[in-house]
Amino acid sequence: MQRGKEEIKVFISSRETRCNECGEELGSKAWITLAGDRGALCLSCADLDHLLFLPSGNVALTRRARKHSRLSAIVLKWSRSRKRYERQGLLVEAQALEKAEEECLGDEDLRELRRKREATRREELDRRYLDQFAARVRELFAGCPAGREREIAEHACLKYSGRVGRSAFAKALDEQAVRLAVTAHLRHSETRYDELLAKGYDRWEARAAVEETIARILQKWEAPSRRPVKTGRTGNWKRET
Ligand SMILES: [Zn+2]
Repeated sequence: MQRGKEEIKVFISSRETRCNECGEELGSKAWITLAGDRGALCLSCADLDHLLFLPSGNVALTRRARKHSRLSAIVLKWSRSRKRYERQGLLVEAQALEKAEEECLGDEDLRELRRKREATRREELDRRYLDQFAARVRELFAGCPAGREREIAEHACLKYSGRVGRSAFAKALDEQAVRLAVTAHLRHSETRYDELLAKGYDRWEARAAVEETIARILQKWEAPSRRPVKTGRTGNWKRET
């Protein structure tokens, strides 16, 4: 277990890579973390896939984005000619990047940047997947605050966009798979999980630390129809279908 301030590193691999946890083939330019004897992990499994990439170049922006981000990671790529890892940029939280941009950029540049980023994101996400996934979240977690199903779907569907076919996506709509996506969202948005990772906690320790909070929210969000309800006339408890 490590509690140092050492930064999390993400490597852009230069050969065919497979995630050691989910088993997914990641191709030859995959973004991965190296988790000791557990080997390469994709960013989804490493719980870093909600972060945005800020390419190196703008020193002030990078410094501020890192400062505002509870969790960040350095992105490195092996240079064959120079025989060393070279820094490509930083992965940071979306809100940290936005705040840094607001501090560093003029209004016009800011608008232009946001417009471009939004366009890229829309291209990456497959609308059909997104709508279906959001609807499924709403169905299973009726108590989730308005709009959150969309956020959860966007995060979950980025993972699937361009990489899986219909049948694989159908699996992503399994109750258990959707629950995992909602759980991942809650970890990042409602708990200290990211802070713990940044402090050097192992993923499993960090997950254990926030488990109770997550369980409480999940229970609150869960569709009332999936909880036992008391039926009017007979007074029997039963599970509605
Ligand atoms: Zn994985």
